[in-house]
Amino acid sequence: MNKTIVIGGGAAGMMAAVFAARNGQEVTLYEQNEKLGKKLFITGKGRCNVTNDAPPEELLANVISNPKFLYSAFYDFNAQDCMAFFEQLGVRLKVERGNRVFPQSDHSSDIIRALEYELRRLSVKICLGSPVKTLWTEDLPNQELINPKKEPTKKCLGIILSDGKKEKADRVILATGGVSYPLTGANGSGLSMAQAAGHKVTELYPALVPLKTQETWCHELMGLALKNVEVTICNGKKKLYQGFGEMLFTHYGVSGPLILSASSQIVKKLQKQPMQLYIDLKPALSPEQLDKRILRDLSENLHKQIGNALAGLLPARLLPEVLALAEISPYEKGDALTREQRLKMVQILKAVPLTITGTADFKEAIITQGGISVKEINPSTMESKRVKNLYLAGECMDVDALTGGFNLQIAWSTAYIAGNQNITEV
Ligand SMILES: Cc1cc2nc3c(=O)[nH]c(=O)nc-3n(C[C@H](O)[C@H](O)[C@H](O)COP(=O)(O)OP(=O)(O)OC[C@H]3O[C@@H](n4cnc5c(N)ncnc54)[C@H](O)[C@@H]3O)c2cc1C
Repeated sequence: MNKTIVIGGGAAGMMAAVFAARNGQEVTLYEQNEKLGKKLFITGKGRCNVTNDAPPEELLANVISNPKFLYSAFYDFNAQDCMAFFEQLGVRLKVERGNRVFPQSDHSSDIIRALEYELRRLSVKICLGSPVKTLWTEDLPNQELINPKKEPTKKCLGIILSDGKKEKADRVILATGGVSYPLTGANGSGLSMAQAAGHKVTELYPALVPLKTQETWCHELMGLALKNVEVTICNGKKKLYQGFGEMLFTHYGVSGPLILSASSQIVKKLQKQPMQLYIDLKPALSPEQLDKRILRDLSENLHKQIGNALAGLLPARLLPEVLALAEISPYEKGDALTREQRLKMVQILKAVPLTITGTADFKEAIITQGGISVKEINPSTMESKRVKNLYLAGECMDVDALTGGFNLQIAWSTAYIAGNQNITEV
């Protein structure tokens, strides 16, 4: 027998199955959903940001959890390899802002179709609607173990399906994803399987996720997007994040690209206590320049109410909130504004204060932070150090990255390695 079982028909599972089959193995892929790539379908707002056309060092710089573990994976199968892989399967790609790579068609379905076509060409047996219940493992005989703390203490013989049926294999690749967007099939069952087989699973956090705020005024600005702002997040006096870009107000707080990136840097610490978020609404202007700008606007509209005199400074829905924070009535006349009031307004414009109380939950998180501990996985082969002949790929492991195609590149690279390993004696 020369048989590989892959659990999970997402990005990592499909890729691992392709490479195991190209490597001459008889591959069966089990997917609990009725179709492959349900999460892949919704990536990049349906356009699938398939990778980031950047060198491995830059890919690694965008990884939040355990970048060192991904070193071999990113060098063995880099973004250019990934692009060549899909181009060879007939998917034409394009590179957009920030080196983000998308199918030219803007349809994630092209990526899924290409993978599915290749799986069928390679005669991979695809079992849809087939949830795997658990791994079928067996303890290794004690006398074979020199140091059970460091060596595998079990071997994987195959899988057990939900109807109790056992399927034997020479090796099993676990690619069941994390727990974010559970409607796509990410239900954490793979993490429980790994745990039951002796793996440590680190604590799970929603990441690349909107943040909740204590202040209700920003809930009322729901839907308002701010471009070119700078966000700083502090835990007491310690600065944890600073970034420039676009954000959005939501019905419970803040979101948008800048906030999602920020969330990945802070979620672990945020669970313990609220944090302070400051929005610099005018990052290109120093406080002095901003003061001059306000003075100019006021002098040009001396007899208008402040709310109207400063209309050009901020989006119409935001100005009243900023004035309220600066304790200035929008109905006051421009010439009545004192220097202290003006300086207070400058202070608020440079650092609108918000209190972050938590994150949205896994249902809205683009990625799971945490997963199967990478300390127990060989980074050059993706083989488990605890269970012989068990391999891991993709989001089920404790690895995650920022937005920009980096998370899918983690799935492709780790799956390439896991798929490419040869069968060893069981
Ligand atoms: C809304 C959204 C947008 C995203 N956009 C991007 C993007 O544009 N670019 C990017 O790089 N990343 C993006 N991501 C992240 C990216 O989707 C993930 O990193 C990637 O899908 C992880 O691949 P995976 O194969 O490890 O897991 P998944 O894609 O989650 O696949 C796991 C599969 O395993 C199956 N499964 C689970 N348990 C079992 C079981 N017991 N038996 C059988 N099957 C099982 C699941 O049904 C699922 O199909 C996005 C994520 C979300 C939620």
